[in-house]
Amino acid sequence: VSTRNQGVTLSIQLVPYGDKQKLLISRDITLLEQTETIRRDFVANVSHEMRTPLTVVGGFLETLLDMEHLDKKQTRQHMQLMLDQTHRMQHLVEDLLTLSRLESEQNVLTEDPVNIPALVEKLCDEAASLSGGQHKISLTLDSDCWLRGNEHELRSAFGNLISNAVRYTHEGGNITLRWAQKGDEAIFSVQDTGEGISPQHIPRLTERFYRVDRSRSRETGGTGLGLAIVKHVLSRHQGKLEVTSEVGKGSTFSACFPANRIIKSSALISDEIA
Ligand code: ADP
Repeated sequence: VSTRNQGVTLSIQLVPYGDKQKLLISRDITLLEQTETIRRDFVANVSHEMRTPLTVVGGFLETLLDMEHLDKKQTRQHMQLMLDQTHRMQHLVEDLLTLSRLESEQNVLTEDPVNIPALVEKLCDEAASLSGGQHKISLTLDSDCWLRGNEHELRSAFGNLISNAVRYTHEGGNITLRWAQKGDEAIFSVQDTGEGISPQHIPRLTERFYRVDRSRSRETGGTGLGLAIVKHVLSRHQGKLEVTSEVGKGSTFSACFPANRIIKSSALISDEIA
């Protein structure tokens, strides 16, 4: 028998003990049950995300097979739509693999010095090409400090914040990237003048597949996993994500890193001299 009371689930078993006696075994299976629910939801979400593109690709393939007289232009249109859906599935699988690598306990964080100013400059150039000239993108470097960590992971986390800003900001909007130090912390922030997020959604944004507007996310190629990846990368660097936003005005996503991750420029210079 299992019984639930005030958020705690107990599994109770009565087993024979000796000739005449019975033993009552009670186990707290709350965590087990929660893990099982998370696993089930995750499988359901992934299946749902894969089903839509697969249905579209299957449908177009059927049309191509059935319709003998499709002209070249129509055929190309169908092919293009199938290719878009295939890219969507590839993107989803890549994000799933990234998340699973980040969660794997064997995957120890490398502790290399990462030149953040150079990294964000590169990302800023990439953002400009991602936006296709539709936004005004600027970069403010208020600190020249580096971080200790994994460049590949930091690139992926910062890249996700930037691509979100591009995807959720209308044409003509502004996107500002900034690298700065405040108190003991180093902060990479992405500020946009996009659609903004209402307060009730903010605490849930880093949950896998949580989206404020499903169709908008999918239309722009979102997998619903970007901020979950950001959260993992930051927690592996003892960092945290802060979000401030106002509907209709825009959002600021800040990745904050503690003092023990920061390599000050003076330390870099003395290393070079040594
Ligand atoms: P997605 O692939 O859907 O963008 P994310 O995990 O990256 O998934 O983001 C989760 C949700 O947070 C998005 O679906 C979107 O609703 C919201 N969001 C993320 N970044 C922004 C932003 N800069 N402006 C407005 N909404 C955002």
